[in-house]
This record gives sequence, C-alpha cells and structure tokens, in this order.
Amino acid sequence: MTWTITRNDLTNIELLNIESLFSIGNGYLGVRGNFEEGYGDDMSSVRGTYINAFHDVTKITYGEKLYAFPETQQKLLNIIDSQTIYIYLGEGDDRELFSLFDGEILSYERMLHLDRGFTERKVHFLTPKGKEIKLLFRRFVSFAIKELFVIDIQIEPVNFTGKVELGSIINGDVANYTNPKDPRVSAGHAKRLTVEQVKQKDIYSYIEVKTMESNLSSSCLTSHHLNTDYKEKIHTREKSIEVVYTFDLCKPVQLTKYNVYTDTLRHENDLFQAGLKIHNGIIEENVISLMEQQKQYLDNFWSTADVQIHGDDHVQEGIRFNLYHLLQSAGRDQKSNIAAKGLSGEGYEGHYFWDTEIYLNPVFIMTHPEIAKNLLLYRYYILDGARARAREMGHSKGALFPWRTIAGTECSPFFPAGTAQYHISADIAYSFIQYYLATNDFDFLKKYGAELLIETARLWIDTGHYDQGAFKIDEVTGPDEYTCLVNNNYYTNVMAKHNLSWAFKAYDLLSKQSQDTFHELKQRLQVTNEEVLEWKKIADDMYLPYDEKLGINPQDDTFLHKAIWDFENTPREKYPLLLHYHPLTLYRYQVCKQADTVLAHFLLEDEQHFDTIQRSYDYYEKVTTHDSSLSYAVFSIMAAKIGYADKAYRYFIETARLDLDNTHGNTKDGLHMANMGGTWMAIVFGFAGLRLKEEGISLAPSLPVNWSGYEFNIKYIEQVIHIKIHVDQITLTLNKGDHVAVRVYDQIVKLSPNQSFHVPLLT
Ligand code: BGC
Repeated sequence: MTWTITRNDLTNIELLNIESLFSIGNGYLGVRGNFEEGYGDDMSSVRGTYINAFHDVTKITYGEKLYAFPETQQKLLNIIDSQTIYIYLGEGDDRELFSLFDGEILSYERMLHLDRGFTERKVHFLTPKGKEIKLLFRRFVSFAIKELFVIDIQIEPVNFTGKVELGSIINGDVANYTNPKDPRVSAGHAKRLTVEQVKQKDIYSYIEVKTMESNLSSSCLTSHHLNTDYKEKIHTREKSIEVVYTFDLCKPVQLTKYNVYTDTLRHENDLFQAGLKIHNGIIEENVISLMEQQKQYLDNFWSTADVQIHGDDHVQEGIRFNLYHLLQSAGRDQKSNIAAKGLSGEGYEGHYFWDTEIYLNPVFIMTHPEIAKNLLLYRYYILDGARARAREMGHSKGALFPWRTIAGTECSPFFPAGTAQYHISADIAYSFIQYYLATNDFDFLKKYGAELLIETARLWIDTGHYDQGAFKIDEVTGPDEYTCLVNNNYYTNVMAKHNLSWAFKAYDLLSKQSQDTFHELKQRLQVTNEEVLEWKKIADDMYLPYDEKLGINPQDDTFLHKAIWDFENTPREKYPLLLHYHPLTLYRYQVCKQADTVLAHFLLEDEQHFDTIQRSYDYYEKVTTHDSSLSYAVFSIMAAKIGYADKAYRYFIETARLDLDNTHGNTKDGLHMANMGGTWMAIVFGFAGLRLKEEGISLAPSLPVNWSGYEFNIKYIEQVIHIKIHVDQITLTLNKGDHVAVRVYDQIVKLSPNQSFHVPLLT
C-alpha cells in the first residue's frame, strides 16, 4: 500500500496539486500530471513539460539598476506538449467527447506507483448518452531512456460498441505559467519559444522549437501504436500536429504514444536525427518491456535508498514519496542540477539553489553517490563563471557561486536575499567535502574538489578582514532570509572556516599523495605557500559570535539587539510573512524565516559545546516562523540531538507529508524538493543520529514513540551498511563490502560481511 499514492479527488484545486504530486520525470525530462483529455470548461491547469536546464534568457528590468546587478536571468521553459489525447465515442448525432466532468463516473482511481515508476487512471464511465466504457491511462518517463515519455491508453467496451475516434496532439504553441502576485513564481515572460519545424515523416510527427535568446532548441518526435485496424488522418498545422485514428470498438483497444524529447544542450544539432536514433533503439520494445526496465531501475534505486518505517503507514508513504521525487528531479548529466521544485512545476523558475548541497546531496552521497558526483560536477563546470562573478563583485581572487542559476550566472535580481547569500560558496565546498568523506574518492578530489575548495576559500580571504585579532566577514546574508546584510553571520563564518581549513587539508593531501596534480594545480591557480598558510591561520582565527549573557551563538552581530517580532498579534493569515510585509520591516526584527544558526550547529556540531547548541536551539525556536519549507527538517534533526523527542517528531511530521498534504498551500507550483531531502535527513541524521566526519561514521539512534522500528541503508566507501532500529536494539549488517567500523553511541562496532551486530538501544 505504501508503494502507491492514490488520489481520486476531482476538484480543480486538488487537480492542480496532483499535477505536481503525480508529475513524472527522470532528472532530464519532467511532465506534470495533467489529464490527456483535459479538465472541464473553465477549469484551470498548469500543463507542463520540462527538460532540466532547458532555458531561455530574459532581461531583468530594474527601476534603479546599480553596478553588477545581473542584467539577465535564465528561466526554465515549458516545452512542446505531447500530453493531449482526446476520445470521441459514437458517430453522427450520437457522437460524444469523453470528459470526466461530463457524464457519470461509475468508478475512478488515480495512482502513482513508486516502486514501478508510472502513474495510472482507471475509469469506469457512463457518458451522458449512456455509453458505458472502461478506460485505463498509464504514463511514465523512462529512467532507462532519458528522452522517452510514454502514454498508454486502453479502452474497453462495456455496453457500448461502435465508432471511436482518438485524437493525439503534439503542440509547440506553449507558454510558461506566471503569477505576478507571488514572488516565488515568475511574474512575466510567459512565451519564449518559436516553432521552427512541424513535419510528419513516415510514422513520425515532429515539432522543433527554439528559444528567443539563449539559442537553444528542443524537439519532440512522436509515434503511435494502435493494436486494431484503423483509419488515420493527420493534420499538420502551423504549430501543432494532430493524428486522428478512427476504429470500431468491439474488443479492448490499446493506443501507445511514444514521445522522444531532445535538446541542443545534450544532443547533436540535427534534433530530428537524434530523436530518430532513439526511436530506432526502442522499436523492438513495447510498453510491457519498457515498464519492466522501469521496474528494474527502481529496484536498484530502492535497494539502497529505501527507508522502512514500522508501525506508521502514513509516514512510510511520505518518506517513499519524497525519495521517489528526489530521484525524478536530480540531473545526472553534469549540465543540470536539481531545481528548487525539481521538474514538477515552475516555481522558482527552474533555478538551482544551495538546496542541492545542503538538503539533497546528503541523501545521494549516502545512498547513490554516483548521482551526487554528477551534481557536484555540475558545480565544478560553472566554476569559471563563479570566478568571473567574484571579479565583478570586486574580489581579486576566488569564486562566488550564484545564489540562483541554471546556466551558471547569477539570476537573482534581489541582492539582499540573493547574491549576498555568499554562504552558498561554502555550502558547495561543504558538499564536496562530505562526498569525499563518504566515498574516499581521491581521484575526484584531485581532479575537481581541490580546485573548488581553493577557489571558494580564496573568496573568504578577500571578503573578510582582521579586526581585533579575529577574522570577520561583513555585509552578507545567512540562510535566514528575514535578516539580511549583516556582519558576522554565525552560519557563514563557521562554514567559511570549514571551507578554509579543508582547502588547506586538500592541498596538503595532494602535495603528499599526488605530486603531478599538485604541481599542475599550484601552477595553474598560482597558489603561493604564504597563501596556503593564510587559509589555515584564518580558519583558526575565524570569529564565531558568542553571547556571554545568553550563552548562545548570535545569528549575527546585531540580531540579538533588535526588537522581537510581535508573534502574539500576528494573525495566522499573515503567514508566510514575506507575502504581507516589506522586507525592511522584517529585517528590523528578531524573526527568522528558517533555520540559520541551528543549521550551522547541525552541519558543524563540533564547533560548539552541547549546552550552547541547546540554548541556541531554545532561543531560535521561539523566533522562527518556518515560512521556508527548508526549516522543519533542521529543527527536527537538532531536537533529536538535544533529546527533545516530541519536538523532533512534530517537526519531522511537518516535512514528511508537506506536499502530499499541501501544508504550505503552494504545491501546485511544484514540489518542495529541499524539504523532501529533509525528510530523509530527519530520519537518518535526526532519529538515527548518523554523522559523517573525518574520523568515520557514527550513530546515536533513538526510536520515535509512534513507531515500532525503522531501517535503512547507507553507502560508505563502497560498502552498504543496513541499519535497523527495533524496539530496544540496533542491528547493523554489512550487506556489501569487507569490513567497516561504525561508532554507535560510544562503542566502536566492527562489521564483517553478512554478520549482524546488535547494540542495545539507549532510551
Ligand atoms: C528559501 C531559500 C531556498 C529557496 C529555494 C526560499 O524560500 O528561503 O533558502 O533556497 O526558497 O528553495
């Protein structure tokens, strides 16, 4: 049951949410869960198909444009729509167009299968004129063939036999969704594609579109297979193609529509040929065999990624759903990453943020590091752009990564909560380090990681300065977007410190273990010995604000001196605050949109005493609104660490079903990917207390009272460790690998193949 999400609601509001929930994708291609035949008259829909990173460039217009404000931004485009298939039943006066909103639904079920990777709608239906039929709609975006989106429809006559017309459309005349009232959604630039080619060749319908500015093209090449005798008519129009099949329905009939999407970022310039090649590769396949491949791919994914929760199906459903969407959204080709909404919708315009490194990569690093590696490589390949941006921002050295981007340049027009979030550079560095610690992939460190660590470390040297013997960083914004442009944001400083000390370590490692690369890098990046020592010294001298009176780490130099937001007199409907108050109003108060210092205490817990961490948690919890969905998971993890079991669970529950239950009210704009990664983090880093550090991995498990147990796998240096927490004991089993040591509480456990090791669960 928990492998299947069922959603039978047909109200317009719910259908919009389900479009996101039932979106299907594979990291390259994403299709929202729209109905093939459309909804009823006057109902709205965000009909969308996206190719990860396929974007246009749009101009940013400012009232006052100052130096180095980005002039353009990128926008993920809604591309050629191949979803449409309409169905006419009967002929002459008796002819009726099938719509779920016009007739009687005898039974209806709509499902997403997380273990098999497809969605389906089962409909038993009576038309207004009394034709009874059964319909089965299934669709998937293939994990094995990234360009392929398949729709399969089966029509079964019940009391009706007679003429049926199926019309299948591909349409290049598409637009993006806009909403000028919500800053989290694009306000304009809806139409960015021109249709360049519309042609029918043999069995193939082909449309190619081109962006207005970025000079990118994408195409859709479609073929159909119908398992009955039929008559075919093809209408090739200016921007669309309609293929119409007419046949007699007297036994079950099946139509399969194979859509192959390509684009010039990934394929040869002749997109028609590229699409044809892919079609030729699947000619031997049928829906069954393609779905079998889909299942195999997912079996492999779940074999390490699955988390089992015993005694709570509601949560079980949530965690699997969230992990499934993570897989669907992660770009794997080094040209793309994970957008804030994945490929499920248009919120945040398909941009990549720090979300990937801090909330999503941790999941992949510990379960499927090959995916994490590709995501990190994407960052490596935009490093030159980050260097250029640093120069533009007045830094003589180093790399400043864009706060939000697709192609590598800064896309944030609002610098206080955008470019000023310099911490993204340290977050990316952090993720490179975590990947290295989890995999021991020295080759990767040598080829990519060291350079990235050095260039990001240099940014901090150039940004900060010494003041009274401590190294300080002024005028930046931390993760909390309700407090901007501050001096010494604790999060930024501590992450920069980590970045600097690891630049030193990586350089040192290279000098000892790979002389060739060391010399090449030293030469190419013109690294001097004094500079290297400076990284270390500045890391040691980094100022980490501490308030003696409260015994906490202040979020920044002025945070604790501000007035506390009047929470008591802020009505519920004023949340999220960002939609009701000018940013300056928010900046003047102690009010946090999301975890900031609390997050730093999780990522780098050894920098502070437990008591400071606990007191800080207590303090920030009172002033945090969690208006950002990135907040709950972190509060859950830290509550678990501190021993606040109830709170850990309450925050966790907020993450587990945030989209399934639409608790943030904007699931229709796409899924909250970072929160989805956060659910896994709250279980594995929170309840199970997993930590990945230089000295190895450790666990400090607890069991939420609502569960009888839970289990999951982690990958650590190519070994797979199964961890089960059940009633009163923890069981560790090495499912793959030779031997590994894990610290459990204070005990070192040495695992060897297929032998289980038990440790009593501390309560
Ligand atoms: C959060 C950011 C996040 C962005 C995209 C914002 O609401 O404050 O931290 O990166 O959403 O998910």
